[in-house]
Amino acid sequence: MDLRKKDFIFEDVNKLKGVGTQLSKYLKKKRIEKIKDIILNLPYSETDRSKIYKLDELEIGKTQTIQVKVKKLNFPRIRNLPNKIICTDNKGEIDIVYFNSREGYLKKIFPLNEWVIVSGKINFFRNKYQITNPEYVTSLENKDYIATNIPKYSLTKGLNEKKYRSISEQVINNLTTIEDWLSKDFIEKNNLLNWNQAIKKLHASEDSKNINSKSYRRLVFDEICANFITLSKNRKIVKRNKKNKLFKESISKKIINNLNFELTGDQLKVLKEINSDLKSDKRMFRIMQGDVGSGKTIVSMLSLANVIESNYQCALMGPTEILAYQHFKLAKKIFNNNFKIEFLSGKTETRKRKEILRKLKEGKIDLLIGTHALFQKKIEFKKLGYVVIDEQHKFGVKQRSDFAKKGGINCDVLLMSATPIPRTMMMSHYGDMDVSKITEKPSARKKINTLSKPEKKINELWSFLNKQIAERNQIFWVCPLIEESKFLDFSSAKKKFDLINNKFPNKVGLIHGSLDKEEKEKVLKRFLEEKISILVSTTVIEVGIDFPNANVIIIENANKFGLAQLHQLRGRVGRGNRQATCILLFKESLSKNSIKRIKILKSSDDGFFIAEEDLKLRGFGDLTGYQQSGNKTFKFADPLLHKDLFELAERFIFKNDLNINHNKFAFLLKLFDKAEIINVSEI
Ligand code: ADP
Ligand code: MG
Repeated sequence: MDLRKKDFIFEDVNKLKGVGTQLSKYLKKKRIEKIKDIILNLPYSETDRSKIYKLDELEIGKTQTIQVKVKKLNFPRIRNLPNKIICTDNKGEIDIVYFNSREGYLKKIFPLNEWVIVSGKINFFRNKYQITNPEYVTSLENKDYIATNIPKYSLTKGLNEKKYRSISEQVINNLTTIEDWLSKDFIEKNNLLNWNQAIKKLHASEDSKNINSKSYRRLVFDEICANFITLSKNRKIVKRNKKNKLFKESISKKIINNLNFELTGDQLKVLKEINSDLKSDKRMFRIMQGDVGSGKTIVSMLSLANVIESNYQCALMGPTEILAYQHFKLAKKIFNNNFKIEFLSGKTETRKRKEILRKLKEGKIDLLIGTHALFQKKIEFKKLGYVVIDEQHKFGVKQRSDFAKKGGINCDVLLMSATPIPRTMMMSHYGDMDVSKITEKPSARKKINTLSKPEKKINELWSFLNKQIAERNQIFWVCPLIEESKFLDFSSAKKKFDLINNKFPNKVGLIHGSLDKEEKEKVLKRFLEEKISILVSTTVIEVGIDFPNANVIIIENANKFGLAQLHQLRGRVGRGNRQATCILLFKESLSKNSIKRIKILKSSDDGFFIAEEDLKLRGFGDLTGYQQSGNKTFKFADPLLHKDLFELAERFIFKNDLNINHNKFAFLLKLFDKAEIINVSEI
C-alpha cells in the first residue's frame, strides 16, 4: 500500500502496518475506521516524557522518564505475584513491575547490567518507588523517540499509547502533500494555515487544545465549508425547474373566513411566502420555523388546500402516529367534504392499506396523512405535487434530500420545525433551504407563568395540583434523565409515579423510554382523552402534540436541562386560552449560570431569543446539551467561538456562488463524511 497516494487516507485502517482485525475493532470503538479518521482524531493533551529524571527526583503519581541500569530480574512464578525488575541509577533504586507478562520478553527488553530508558507512572509501594507496566522501555539508542513530548489521544481498552502512537505516526509523518483547496492568498489573508501544515501542527503541538490557533481554525474552516458545500449542492439539486401549477386559492380563502380565530400577521406572511414558491417555476424547498404553539399546522393546511385545488395530490407526514392522527382529524374538520383524505400508518390494516395504495395510484385520494409509512417504496401517487413534513428536526440533510427525491421533480417540499436555532447555526442546519419564520404568537395566548422551587418544598404542590384537577386542567410531570441509562431513567419516573399516584389515585399515568411505541401511544391517548389528569414522563414524549387541556408542567431537576430544552418542554402547555403554569424544581443550591437561565426563561417566551441566550451561556466544551439534543453537526467548529469563520464560510460558499465543480472539494467532502450525502461524482 502506497502511503503517498492521495486516496490512501480514505482506506480502511487495517491497511496500516500493525493494524489487524482485533486492533481495527478497538479503533472502531473510538470511531476510527478509515485512515483519515486518525488524521481527524486530535490529541487532547501531551505527555511530557522529555526530561530524564534521576531516581531521587521522582514524584509519586506523575508520569516520568528515567534512565536506569538493570540490576536483577525477579520472576517468582507464583500465581498473582508479579514479575519484578530491580533497576538502579547512582541516586537510588526502583522496581519495574509487570503483571501477566512473559519472561522471555522481559529478559529481552531488560538485559542484565545494561542501561535502559523507562517511562511510566511513578508509584510507591512498600517503601520503594515502582513503575507498574511502564508505557515505554527501550535501549539508550532509542532514547529520543521516548524522551520527548508525546501527544496524548483518548484511548480505549486494547489500545495503549505506544500502539496508537505508532499508528498515528505512520499516518501523520507520511502524509502526502494535498493540493490545497484554499488559495495561498486566501489562507494568508484570513490568517489560516495550509492543510498539510495545519494537520502536522495539530498532532505535534499544543495547537489541538487551542481552538484559536491557526491550525485549529483551519480545520474548523474546512469542516464548516464541507458542511456548507454539501448544503449548497443539495439546494442546487433540489431547486430545479418544475411544471407550473395552475394556482387556485378559493377554498383556502373560505377556510380562513370560517376559522374561529384570526390568523396572525406572521402566519399570513409565511403563507404568502409558501404560496409564491408553489406558484413559481422552481421547486419549493422551504422550512417553516415557529415556536411550539405558534400555529404552523393551519398554515400548512391552507397551503395544502391550494395545491389540491390546483389538481395535485398531497402528502402530510407527522413524526408519530398520534401527531399525524391529530393532523388528520383537523384536516377532516376544516376541509369538510371538499377533499378526499386518508390516513396511513404502520398500523393500518392490510386490506385498508391496499385500498389506499390503489386509490392513490388512481388519483382518488387528494391528501394522504400519516407517519413514515407514507414514504415506503411501494407507495405511488398518480400526481403528487406537494409534501409537508412536520417536526422535522429529527432529520438530517441526507433524509431531507431523500424526501425531495422521492416526491419527484414536480413535487414541492415544506418542512416544519419547532426548534429555534441560533443565527450562527442557521446556515449550517438549513443552508439548502429557504426559511420562513413565525415569531408572533396567537394573540389570545397568555404568557406561561414560570416559577422555580426547591425540591424540598414539593409538598406545597399537592394542594395546587388538587385545585388544578378540580378545574379540569391537566398536568405534565417531567422527570429528568438522570444518566444515560434507560433503567435509571425509568426508575426515577417510576418512583415519582408511585408517589403521585398515591396522592391522586387513578388519576396518574406513566410514560418512559422503556415502553414500546404502542404502549406509549396508549398512555398518551388516555391523557388526550382526559381519562387521567397527571402524566408522569421522562423527556421521551414529543412536544408537537396539542393537549389543549394541559395547563401545568412540572419539571424536576430542571438544572439538568438546557435552556432551549426547557423552553420546548414548557411549550407542551398553554395551547389553550387558560393561564398555564410551569414549575421548575431544583435539587441543590443553584449555580450562577442556573440562576441566569431561570431568569431568561421567566422573562421570555420567544424561542428564538432563548436559543441565542442559550448559546451565549455555554462555553466551549459545554456543548453537551447540543450533542444530546442531536445537534452535533460539528466536531471541531463551535458556533459561538468560531462565529467569524462561520461568516467567512458563508460568504465564501454561498455568496460568491462558488464554482464547486472541482476535484479538490471532493477530497474535502470525503474527509468530513459528506460525500455520501450528495453524489460526489456529480461534483
Ligand atoms: P405548532 O406551531 O406548535 O404546530 P399548532 O399548529 O399545533 O402549533 O397550533 C397550536 C394551537 O393554536 C392550535 O390549537 C391552533 O388551533 C391554535 N391556533 C393556531 N393559529 C391561531 C391563531 N392565529 N389564533 C388563535 N389560535 C391559533
Ligand atoms: Mg406542530
